[in-house]
Amino acid sequence: MSDIIVIGAGAAGMTAALYALRNGKSVTVLEEETFGGQIANSPRVENFPTIREISGSDLADRLFEQITALGAEVELEKVLGVEKKGNGFLVRTEYAEREAKSVIIAAGVKHKHLHFKNEEELTGNGISYCAICDGPFYTGEEVALVGDGNTALQYGILLSGYCPKVYIYTLFDRFFGDEALVKTLLSKKNVVWKPNTSLTEYIGTDKLEGFRYKEGNEIKEHRIGALFVAIGQVPDNKKFENLVLLDKDGYIVADETCTTSCDGIYVAGDCRTKKIRQLTTAVADGAVSALAACAYIDKNF
Ligand SMILES: Cc1cc2nc3c(=O)[nH]c(=O)nc-3n(C[C@H](O)[C@H](O)[C@H](O)COP(=O)(O)OP(=O)(O)OC[C@H]3O[C@@H](n4cnc5c(N)ncnc54)[C@H](O)[C@@H]3O)c2cc1C
Repeated sequence: MSDIIVIGAGAAGMTAALYALRNGKSVTVLEEETFGGQIANSPRVENFPTIREISGSDLADRLFEQITALGAEVELEKVLGVEKKGNGFLVRTEYAEREAKSVIIAAGVKHKHLHFKNEEELTGNGISYCAICDGPFYTGEEVALVGDGNTALQYGILLSGYCPKVYIYTLFDRFFGDEALVKTLLSKKNVVWKPNTSLTEYIGTDKLEGFRYKEGNEIKEHRIGALFVAIGQVPDNKKFENLVLLDKDGYIVADETCTTSCDGIYVAGDCRTKKIRQLTTAVADGAVSALAACAYIDKNF
């Protein structure tokens, strides 16, 4: 049995591990994909205090190295659910059943999908949610991008570096991201902005051949082999709702104390109810949740 199981090795989860380990607790971190979470997909982070500029993957590597040096047990396992067992918890993963005195959920958020026909078959075959990971595959080719926030802006800037033309489709005639990023994107000569448009369907069955979109009252077609979808994120917390309260959008209900509706379960980062979802707020939650979990264990075990 670990003292604490942390679900998710993003910025919040790894910071929670850091604080709990430094408090003398044994910690197991379970991660379903890659260590670092969302930030690992960001080419440039410029708003993390003390570091003027760093790539998201370097930042994630540093945090990973910091927690493993302190003795964190880290496993690549997807968590399927959590139950109460005795005065602790049973965490079921795809490979094992693990026990802990306290659990910190730091499961972040996932990419929002358009849910058009053939989406599953086309994902990885022209449709991508990560320009950092897949952008280089389209070097020298025209690509399209849909989205109007910081992620879309960053992806557009990145893709404009190696694609001859980048079309960016937005629902309205404005972006909802940092002004500096908007300026940089729109200054690129090979970026074509398509405002007031709404994608309606994908074309292609096993390989993307293009998509249809609405502009005014007209349905138009854009024949293209790559589309990057950056339309926001959604939480994926349903598997925890047997124990913790979720809000109507699926976020785990908790305030700045990171305390959930279940004694012994804490929550950190983007997966909880909060206004600002950023690295700084995720790592702050990591610290708060870990110290709360440590105090809970000291009091109850
Ligand atoms: C492209 C991009 C650029 C960004 N740039 C910036 C920036 O410049 N500055 C900034 O402050 N913020 C930025 N952000 C936001 C920032 O990355 C997030 O707010 C922050 O990383 C959230 O951390 P987190 O640990 O809460 O969640 P996440 O990073 O989402 O990590 C959650 C982790 O939990 C794992 N997980 C989920 N479910 C399970 C499960 N069932 N079992 C096991 N593991 C699971 C996930 O795989 C993931 O690794 C950016 C985000 C993106 C997408």
